[in-house]
Amino acid sequence: MYSMSPEPLLKAADIQARVLELGKNISSSYKFDMVISILTGAFIFTADLCRAMPSKDLQIRFIKASSYGKSTESSGNLKVSGLENLDLKGSRILLVDDILDSGRTLKTLVEMLKNEGAADVRTCVLLDKKDRREVPIKADFCGFEIPNEFVVGYGLDFANDYRSFPDIWTLTEKV
Ligand code: IMP
Ligand code: MG
Repeated sequence: MYSMSPEPLLKAADIQARVLELGKNISSSYKFDMVISILTGAFIFTADLCRAMPSKDLQIRFIKASSYGKSTESSGNLKVSGLENLDLKGSRILLVDDILDSGRTLKTLVEMLKNEGAADVRTCVLLDKKDRREVPIKADFCGFEIPNEFVVGYGLDFANDYRSFPDIWTLTEKV
């Protein structure tokens, strides 16, 4: 059994403020033509982030990556789909994910996008659990560094639950 923290770790208003700031930082420091968002967890963050850096020509694409089953630990093997539909040759990409944990998802995907011919790939994550890193990767843009705890809400799930919560909460195992 799992239970939610009594208070949110990050409140919706603070998330919104930080996402606006991130959008400004990114627009002023990186010229990119395509956002690639990693489903499912990043869908809400991506929607808010894109509206914080509006541009007529910006292409917004989604790929699906999954490494979690019904557990709060990564299973280590990454399933990727949707990449086959994208023509990435010469494109300058902002790769967006909800959270950087072991680093495997983002590192694997950056390599895949470069192999597909992307001219440049920079990464943006809302959350970073630095202490959990197992492979060397640092996000180019990051919303919040958070402690080594499992979090849900604002798109992030536990076994597909909690995604619709506007705040971000910590989930703990009941003993
Ligand atoms: P990594 O490959 O270990 O870096 O894991 C990244 C992916 O695991 C993210 O895209 C999330 O989908 C998922 N993930 C990692 N930590 C959490 C968490 O605390 N809550 C929900 N999903 C998480
Ligand atoms: Mg994910």
